[in-house]
Amino acid sequence: MLVGYSSSEEEEGDSEAAAAPNRSRSRKCQEEDDGCPERKKAKTEERVPKTSRLPLPGSLVAMFPDEEDSLTEDSSVHGGRVRSFRHERGNWATYTYLPYHPEEEFGELLEELLSVARARGVVLTLQEEFHLSLSQTVVLRHHWIQPFTRSLRAGLLHCKRFVCTAGRLKVYCNAERTRTFLGMEVCTGHAQLLELVQAVDRTMTEFRLDTFYKDPSFHVSLAWSVGDVTEQMKECIQELQGVVDDHEEGALRLDCVELRCRTGNKTFLFPLQP
Ligand code: AMP
Repeated sequence: MLVGYSSSEEEEGDSEAAAAPNRSRSRKCQEEDDGCPERKKAKTEERVPKTSRLPLPGSLVAMFPDEEDSLTEDSSVHGGRVRSFRHERGNWATYTYLPYHPEEEFGELLEELLSVARARGVVLTLQEEFHLSLSQTVVLRHHWIQPFTRSLRAGLLHCKRFVCTAGRLKVYCNAERTRTFLGMEVCTGHAQLLELVQAVDRTMTEFRLDTFYKDPSFHVSLAWSVGDVTEQMKECIQELQGVVDDHEEGALRLDCVELRCRTGNKTFLFPLQP
């Protein structure tokens, strides 16, 4: 049994982070750090001092190719996304995005939107975290993580920070028609977002993974509903838009200072240039 050995991911994460140009070692991965995988959700890693780790012989590694870790089934770990691929050990659900951290007042607006939708028979659940997607959710094999994030970092090296805004509500449905989202579509910053997507897509192509939508509708999903309730949501979208327009903090402003890549239970950070 390989139990007792800590996974190799931590070392991989460290070596990836060490390769990052903006790395600040003194800030040592509290939770999130430049290029350092987030640790708070790591479940399977056992804290074995590094000095006590012995490398596995290659022949043994080949016998158990993906024993290091497994994906959690907790859907919150992948932002409420439903997997469109079979869960397998060693398959890491991966996507890139810009995080959005709303002001407190935004919460009031969201609650109001939920209650108006509920009155129209649409039951919405708030997103646990807010983000603007820059890729589809793809599947990475565990041993691709390091080269994948390295390629992303290289491709994003010259991308600059910018601000984008969103204020128009729009309904989105996932490809499997298992979830419908109430999102706010971006109205400024489209060109810079496209530039980021191009960089991400280059890495996707390099790894033969799906690229993003040819004609993306950049947005931040606010809430979701189970199944395909596109029509029901569209029926009350004007009313919901009225709620947004009446709010002082209705429009959403996103300071795009870093791109993130979530893979399994880790998050890699890619700071954009000041
Ligand atoms: P997200 O909040 O980024 O997870 O997006 C919610 C859903 O919108 C995802 O399942 C996407 O597949 C879907 N979606 C549908 N059409 C588009 C589009 N044109 N651009 C971006 N996302 C889209």
